[in-house]
Amino acid sequence: MERRFDTSERCARGLDRDDPLSPFRDRFYIPAGTIYVDGNSLGLLSRDAERSLQRVVHEWRTKGIKGWLDGEVPWFHLAERLGEMAAPLVGAEPAEVVATGTTTFNIHSLVSTFYHPRNGRTKIIASSLDFPTDIYALKSQIALSGLKPDEELLLVPLDGHSPLEESAIIDSMSGKVALILLPSVLYRSGQLLDMEALTEAAHRYGIIIGFDCSHSIGAVPHYFDRWGVDFAVWCSYKYLNGGPGSPAFLYLNKRHFDRYPALAGWFGCIKERQFDMNLAFEHAPSAGGWQVSSPGILGAAAAQGALEITLEAGIGRIREKSLTMTGYLIFLADALLGPEPYAFSIGTPREAARRGGHVALVHEREAMRIKEALIERGVIPDYRPPDIIRIAPIPLYNTYHELWRLAVVLREIVDTGAFEKYDVKRRLIP
Ligand SMILES: *Cc1c(COP(=O)(O)O)cnc(C)c1O
Repeated sequence: MERRFDTSERCARGLDRDDPLSPFRDRFYIPAGTIYVDGNSLGLLSRDAERSLQRVVHEWRTKGIKGWLDGEVPWFHLAERLGEMAAPLVGAEPAEVVATGTTTFNIHSLVSTFYHPRNGRTKIIASSLDFPTDIYALKSQIALSGLKPDEELLLVPLDGHSPLEESAIIDSMSGKVALILLPSVLYRSGQLLDMEALTEAAHRYGIIIGFDCSHSIGAVPHYFDRWGVDFAVWCSYKYLNGGPGSPAFLYLNKRHFDRYPALAGWFGCIKERQFDMNLAFEHAPSAGGWQVSSPGILGAAAAQGALEITLEAGIGRIREKSLTMTGYLIFLADALLGPEPYAFSIGTPREAARRGGHVALVHEREAMRIKEALIERGVIPDYRPPDIIRIAPIPLYNTYHELWRLAVVLREIVDTGAFEKYDVKRRLIP
């Protein structure tokens, strides 16, 4: 899959010419004058998402409450419909996926469903390299169970450095562990974990395992049913381009449908009986049973068009292009940005099978100010303190030529010392 690259502009043009996904770029609104490589923080608006959003706004305008049953996709069924659409992206059956809530909320909901510490099985394994919200949620779940987070939460690796070795996680498993929650892709380094091997090992110890796939959904294929994963969550505003305010998703393996949703709410009812308004809660025997409240229909509407694009392009082709793009970027960084005075290094594993969708460019001294200089030049990356500039080439709308330009601009910023004029103060959102 990795092809031969060179540092010429011609090479970049040639890669774009041979790219079967290049027509998709025209369906996105690229902010004027920018090279947007921040799609792993907030994906861009597509015409498709805009259209499905406008359709629902029109339905609201013309039908009022009737939109719940008379919408083109009835609002009452939109969350399940989006789940059905997302199911092939994660290797699930339609009933195992639903669009609902937020990532952090869904972690609370599923962890409280599965985490019942007793009989010496009280611990939770997570990673010290996790996105912090996952850790906040796990600690509060442990505290809600009357236990001490510092005693029950095992964070791997102990030294907090990447890469995170699967073997170190597996070594920490034991009969004392009740639950594991790990990211599929680490948000800083972009390392992809071997979810299949981790699931297999967890189940050998009788441990429930779930994954936060916010950084892999829409970039990497998943096979949850085949791997036997117990549950998963992800957001839809990164690689899925669902937009700010778009709903998160949850996956629940069907062998768990008869568990009781710990955080019950009326939208989790069996749909045919939801409006009977019974006080006894009967949850739907599907991921939908873990819904709580009326869905945010406007956010969900945009996610529909966005998902259609991803499905049309195909996750296999997306992954293939993503790996070629990240491979090309790593090649350019090694060739053009590694040696002094540039001094960038790569914080992402080099093996394709261990890479998610973005590349962490590490600059120990000046990452923050170099990021500022990039933004002034119309390049939108993101920055994770203290030393990482994350570059996410999005197969649906970025080009190889943009990556080549990015490397040229980075050299210019260092050559001219242009970064030196920026203040070292942090912004509210880095
Ligand atoms: C983006 C992201 C989240 C976001 O959580 P929200 O509750 O949707 O704000 C959570 N976890 C990970 C790993 C993420 O990358």
